[in-house]
Amino acid sequence: MLVLGTANRKKGLELAQLLRPVGVELKTLADFGVDFEVVEDGDTFAANARLKAAGYARHLGRWVLADDSGLEVDALDGRPGVFSARYSGPDADDASNNRLVLQQLGDLPLDRRTARFVCHIAVADPQGAVVAESEAACRGRMLFGPRGSGGFGYDPLFEIVEYHRAFGELGVGVKAHLSHRSRAACRLIPQLTRLADAGKI
Ligand code: IMP
Repeated sequence: MLVLGTANRKKGLELAQLLRPVGVELKTLADFGVDFEVVEDGDTFAANARLKAAGYARHLGRWVLADDSGLEVDALDGRPGVFSARYSGPDADDASNNRLVLQQLGDLPLDRRTARFVCHIAVADPQGAVVAESEAACRGRMLFGPRGSGGFGYDPLFEIVEYHRAFGELGVGVKAHLSHRSRAACRLIPQLTRLADAGKI
């Protein structure tokens, strides 16, 4: 059994779908009544993913998988980066974050609106030791306004150039093939399979 260390329901659903090939039972923080959030004060996605996996694992005494992810916009020097979730302030939500990014990009032409999503996944054992990790990215461009209602976060603004569509417009199936999270999960699956075969998770 593996606990998904995220309070973000849509991220949890994506992870659960991506990790299905491993064939282990997946639980969520909600299943264990965890109602606190690990403080994410690292300055990289890797540091924050490790903090979350280790923090929840120690608290629960169970194996935990956590991802830290975000958007890096080239014209904004890599922002929002690790601040993606709360970019527009402590009361930020997806809509206010999207508005701020759009405002900061102004009327910059499409070819200078390049960006990438990054996802780092860490897996910690019940003592809080990180024993497996992977990271991947997915490149795209920031549109001039939101498109589609699928996904979460910055998905309605993030254009997959090859598809001429935002992640918000593409179905979950396409995101499950192309996204930063799906690529990171694919890279992690051999490590998770080894842990499952050894009877650890
Ligand atoms: P985390 O939960 O601390 O990893 O914060 C991730 C934040 O980055 C989310 O709240 C979103 O704003 C953004 N983000 C991460 N992954 C995605 C994605 O797949 N689509 C859109 N936004 C994402």
